[in-house]
Amino acid sequence: MKSYESVSCAKVSAKDIEILLIDDDQSYCRLVKMALARAGQPARFAVQTAGSLAEGLKYLNSRSFDLVLLDLGLPDSFGLETFDRVHSACPDISVVMVTGLEDLKISVEAIQKGASDYLVKGADSFVDILVRTILYALERKRADEMLRLSEKNFRNIINNSADAIIVTDQKGLILFANPAAEAFFGWTSQELLGKDFEYPITVGRTAEMEVTRKCGGKALAELRAVETTWQGKAACLVSLRDITARKAAERKMAKYRDNLKALVRERTEKVDAEKELLSVTFSSMGDGVIVVDPEKRIVLFNRVAEILAGWEFERVQDRGLDEIFRVVDERTRQKVESPVDKVLKSSKAELGADFEVLLAMDGSERPISSKAAPIRSSDGAVTGIVMVFRDVAREREIERLKQDFISSISHELRTPLTSIKAYTETILSDSNMPEETKRQFLGIIDEESNRLAGLIEGLLEISRIESGTMKIVREPVDIVAVARKVLTALQALADKQNIRLESDIDDDLAIFEGDEDKIQSALTNLVNNAIKFTPRDGRVCVSVRQRDDHLVMRVSDTGMGIPKEALPRIFDRFYRVPHPGKHIQGTGLGLAIVKKIVTMHGGRIEVESELNRGTTFTIFLPLTAAAVPETQPAN
Ligand code: ADP
Repeated sequence: MKSYESVSCAKVSAKDIEILLIDDDQSYCRLVKMALARAGQPARFAVQTAGSLAEGLKYLNSRSFDLVLLDLGLPDSFGLETFDRVHSACPDISVVMVTGLEDLKISVEAIQKGASDYLVKGADSFVDILVRTILYALERKRADEMLRLSEKNFRNIINNSADAIIVTDQKGLILFANPAAEAFFGWTSQELLGKDFEYPITVGRTAEMEVTRKCGGKALAELRAVETTWQGKAACLVSLRDITARKAAERKMAKYRDNLKALVRERTEKVDAEKELLSVTFSSMGDGVIVVDPEKRIVLFNRVAEILAGWEFERVQDRGLDEIFRVVDERTRQKVESPVDKVLKSSKAELGADFEVLLAMDGSERPISSKAAPIRSSDGAVTGIVMVFRDVAREREIERLKQDFISSISHELRTPLTSIKAYTETILSDSNMPEETKRQFLGIIDEESNRLAGLIEGLLEISRIESGTMKIVREPVDIVAVARKVLTALQALADKQNIRLESDIDDDLAIFEGDEDKIQSALTNLVNNAIKFTPRDGRVCVSVRQRDDHLVMRVSDTGMGIPKEALPRIFDRFYRVPHPGKHIQGTGLGLAIVKKIVTMHGGRIEVESELNRGTTFTIFLPLTAAAVPETQPAN
């Protein structure tokens, strides 16, 4: 007899519900099979029958079933024991007991031990109940399995969570602690269970708190609590995240940010100060400064550049340099290459041409000296060029004066020398020269020698001034006596020109402390000039007075006067007012020496003059020896 068959007579498919029916009642077995075969959708049943427990267990051991229909009263086993043996052989399989009325109590006990359900043989609607019971039992089994699986998953998640998870009951006693909680607190799960979770919990809120570990160390935790049920009772699930390292990193970060802010502030202040310094330096520089980009477009133009070139920065900004900065050679009038062009070729600092003349916007010309240097970025590329230039009119004038001086001094030295040599040779070559002629000639030689000596003395004096070695020896000076001495010494010269030499000297002067020789030399120079630049029959007056705490010496003449434009320059070394067609002896050094002597005494000199009417020089000397430096740089 075929003991295994698909009750629907169809091929047993994977979807068939495999049922093992253990029952020794053959007719009941047939009934069950027929009932299940008729059941049809939604499931098909494949029924295996076994007439004894031993046979049933054999099937259970050899293959798998979805459900066992078990009669408790079998030839080889009876009652609860039957269930126990099946259940212990296959604890996971659903077992539905098939009982007579007399076994009802045992069936209930079996259910308590894990059986799925029971059926009472011979009850009404047995077939319907049979199918439904089987399906319910299987469904429950599946639901139980799902529940077990999801619980397993849940445990898995909790046990592998990086956060510490603690479950407490409503009184706060710990019911569960996951491995991360053990690691966090340092207590084992066993040690934690039943203990009071001593930290405040607010359900639904996240809080940060300091927790104490078993070792006594502190840690910072972010704590979050939710309500849950644990083993059927209301509980609280607390998750704790160790944020000690994160907080330390945040603190470090905050400190780093503060430091960075302070650094940025400091740097910004420094850069602002440097910018300010640069801008002040730039605008207050005595030289003209122009900054251009590599395309020679003007980027910066300082105040002096505006004055020298005659352009305002607003008008030249972004314009080409060549349009604004036009330079020609003073001698050839040809355009010269600007130092900026040279820098663009060589990428190094360059000087401008030798005789540059800048043509200003209004057409005026200015001799200049210029130089330029590249501005480099950190990678060495030329990002611009700075050009510095200055007005050298005065230097060129001084240069010219020096040249004039050299030719004039050689002339001045040669004139007395030529005359001395000529008269000496004449005397030597003529042994019969009358005594009177000889004396006259010797007188001229003497006079010329004196002139030569004076000239050389002037040169030495100016060289002492230039080198800063001129010294003032301070002692009480009888200024009245000095003035009279000067007048006496120059009386003869004045007489020669028929010039009246007058004096207005206050006899009652306070004691003046100074260098007598130098004061005498200064006064001599002024009176000598007055006589020299006054035509015949003129008048020269020397006055010495006291005004408050100053000694005032004035030398005035009725001479040719000094042109207005020459007045600011007459104290310059080597400067002489040109007098075309006239030869007036001199070196242009006298007034420079006088001014130096006066300033070394702490005083000052002033000049007033009117052309063809006369000139007045006034020296002011402080009576109290103010703290005047012994030497001053030549001016
Ligand atoms: P020097 O007399 O040797 O030429 P100074 O330095 O004494 O040189 O004088 C400079 C110039 O100032 C003179 O060359 C002259 O042109 C002008 N000067 C000085 N004193 C007088 C004066 N009293 N009257 C007119 N011109 C004067």
